[in-house]
Amino acid sequence: MQIVVRGSDLYKIITLTKEFGVEICGFLFGTREGENLIVEEVRFIPNRLSGDAFEMEPLEMVRAIDDAEKRGLEVVGIFHSHLKCPPRPSGRDLKGMRLWPVVWLIVDEKGNYGAFVLEGDKIREVEVIGKE
Ligand SMILES: [Zn+2]
Repeated sequence: MQIVVRGSDLYKIITLTKEFGVEICGFLFGTREGENLIVEEVRFIPNRLSGDAFEMEPLEMVRAIDDAEKRGLEVVGIFHSHLKCPPRPSGRDLKGMRLWPVVWLIVDEKGNYGAFVLEGDKIREVEVIGKE
């Protein structure tokens, strides 16, 4: 499985990760092509927690998903940032991954990133492919 993301979208997420003192989060909307996921849109959702945790604002989540579905896009991933810890799923993230079994893209303030998916109880890394 691979997830294909525009380089400019990835750059935008990394830039905001560096700018914000709290974790940022949102959806990756797109389509499936066989095993692979093609991200067409990155949608930031306000984080209603502060510090080093995130919880997307529920009303904004619903709005974003409605908008995307109208345009034929589905949730292919969730992204969020980590501050001062590596871009790997935390224990808290693992719980979220059970609720949202899509690809989780995690970015840190140094510009490192990783994508992960939960398969049963195992976390598998997903290859991130940049595109123009
Ligand atoms: Zn996390």
